[in-house]
Amino acid sequence: MPRDLLNKANRLMNTANNTAWNVQRTKQTVDRFGSDRRNAKQQQVAQQSLEWNCVCGKKVASKFCDNCGKAKPACPSCGAAATGSRFCGECGSAME
Ligand SMILES: [Zn+2]
Ligand SMILES: [Zn+2]
Repeated sequence: MPRDLLNKANRLMNTANNTAWNVQRTKQTVDRFGSDRRNAKQQQVAQQSLEWNCVCGKKVASKFCDNCGKAKPACPSCGAAATGSRFCGECGSAME
């Protein structure tokens, strides 16, 4: 086999390898963006679960109602944030 033909074949192999490597790198970048989107969605869900309905009728996302100033209801036994159900999700005590 002539030497320059062998060199040409080697160059072609290298190009093919580089292309495969680039495709893999692009895929990793896409995966990273995908997980970022998933994290954003999880944060959104956590934000929603923080919301509670104040006695004044306002839906509040912070610790205190910005309409009447009432604090977010919490379990009288363990202090866990109320989930809206009649019993504490942490210790099972009846909510006020
Ligand atoms: Zn209120
Ligand atoms: Zn509790």
